[in-house]
Amino acid sequence: MDEAELMPGDVDLDVTHSAINYKDGLAITGERPVVRRFPMIPGVDLAGRVTRSTHPDFKPGDRVVATGCGVGESHFGGFAEKARLNGDWLTHLPDGLTAARAMTAGTAGLTAMFCLLALERHGLTPADGTAIVTGAAGGVGSFAVALLARSGWRVAAVTGRESEADYLRQLGASEILARDAFTTPGKLLQEQRFAAGVDMVGGVTLANLLAQTRCDGAIAACGNVGGMDLPTSVAPFILRGVSLLGVESVRPRIALRREAWGRLAADLDPALIDAMRETVPFDQALEKAKTIVRGAIRGRTVIEMPAAADS
Ligand code: NDP
Repeated sequence: MDEAELMPGDVDLDVTHSAINYKDGLAITGERPVVRRFPMIPGVDLAGRVTRSTHPDFKPGDRVVATGCGVGESHFGGFAEKARLNGDWLTHLPDGLTAARAMTAGTAGLTAMFCLLALERHGLTPADGTAIVTGAAGGVGSFAVALLARSGWRVAAVTGRESEADYLRQLGASEILARDAFTTPGKLLQEQRFAAGVDMVGGVTLANLLAQTRCDGAIAACGNVGGMDLPTSVAPFILRGVSLLGVESVRPRIALRREAWGRLAADLDPALIDAMRETVPFDQALEKAKTIVRGAIRGRTVIEMPAAADS
């Protein structure tokens, strides 16, 4: 393709970095209908340098990031050297983050931060008890563990991969729990173990999490790697005052995005962000997208585009 074929937008970019999200894996393998039109350039995350802009907030040379907003689903995305986007979807690269670190976060880091903000806005604090994170060694999970621990929470990390226990402890997890312990249907109300949670899985796992949440606690639900259904009852809600907080990261809501990016840059140690990243060249993107759907990626995979060399 050439630049003339890019979709309409008021800002042009040289893409320096992108990243692989679970959703990109679903789009590329076709396992779920993520792509809304064909042809499509996938890649829901990108970072780059502005080369042309008629948007008042951006000028050539600016470093920017974009995540969600339909990019890689209905608008050409980050798996390309050039992008043309709506400036309202862009955020300036936050102070303190390189493009590679911003893409290490990407949709995963932003979603984990949205989950933390949702729990905080619900009024929960580390003094309330332990926070549980499922799918902990994945992208959103890694950031959720690190962000909650950084905010003072005692974190229980749920993983299906025992081999990732050291990695999760390095991110700040205090306790490692086996995924299998949450996948069998259980009683509607169980022992109250957790004050808060971030769930990547859905299905029976989320039902068990709700059943094990303490009175007035909350679970922020953002993922469905274990299924779209939720076989639960109203018991945790009406008998324990438990709340289920829905989190989605696609709609623009630029004020919330800027708050979350600022907090990500301020809260996380750059060395910890680096520990979550594997960097691959563009020609490995397809293979990695297939790997993520198998749940076999640790942390985040960042794609370095040729233009990164000039950045
Ligand atoms: P990853 O593949 O990086 O992480 C998912 C993790 O879940 C895996 O690493 C694995 O972790 C665990 N897992 C995989 N399969 C299963 C299974 N069958 N049952 C239980 N656990 C499993 O994906 P992302 O972090 O990119 O995304 C996680 C989820 O969040 C996805 O469903 C994605 O669509 C969703 N998401 C939603 C967003 C929103 O806006 N709401 C934004 C971003 C992501 P481990 O080996 O440690 O158990």
